[in-house]
Amino acid sequence: MCHSLAELDFAELAERGIYYYIIDVDNTLAPRKFRQCTLSIRQALQSAVEQGYIKRMVLVSNVGNYDAARCGRVEQIAQELGAAFVCAYWPHIKPDPAPFLEGIKLMPGANLDNTVMIGDQIFTDVKGGNRLNLTTVYVDPLGPDHWVTSWKRVIEKIIFRITGWRQ
Ligand SMILES: [Mg+2]
Repeated sequence: MCHSLAELDFAELAERGIYYYIIDVDNTLAPRKFRQCTLSIRQALQSAVEQGYIKRMVLVSNVGNYDAARCGRVEQIAQELGAAFVCAYWPHIKPDPAPFLEGIKLMPGANLDNTVMIGDQIFTDVKGGNRLNLTTVYVDPLGPDHWVTSWKRVIEKIIFRITGWRQ
C-alpha cells in the first residue's frame, strides 16, 4: 500500500526484479473525468523511467460498455505518459484476468513475475492482480468515486480495520 503513486518506492520494486507497470487510471493517475495525469504522479513516473526503474507501462481501465469517449480519455493519458493502454469492456472488465493479460502482452519483456499492478480499488485492481499472482499496490483514491464504487469503499474500510493494513 502507499498513499499516492507519487510516493511509491520504484527503486525497491526494481530491486525485487519488477520493472513493468500495469496502472489503473481513475483515481489512481487522475481524478475521475480529468483528462490529464496528476502532475506529481507524472513527474514521479517520468523520473522512475529515466532512472531505469520502470521499463514499460500500460494503463488498464474499466470502461464498461463500449464508449469511445471514455476510451479516448484513457488513450490521452497514456500518450501523456508514454504508456500503452487497454480499455476493458464488459464482460471482460477488472478483476477478470483478460485485460491484465492483454496489458502484459503490450509490454515486450513483461511477464507475471516482473510486473506490478497498481490501483485504488481492492475489488477490481488488487483482486484482479492477485488472481494472476502479480505483485499489487493499493493507493488511496485521488478524488470522489463513481456512485457504484462508493458502496465498495464501505467494505474496503471494514477490510482495512480487520487487517490493520491502514490506520
Ligand atoms: Mg480506479
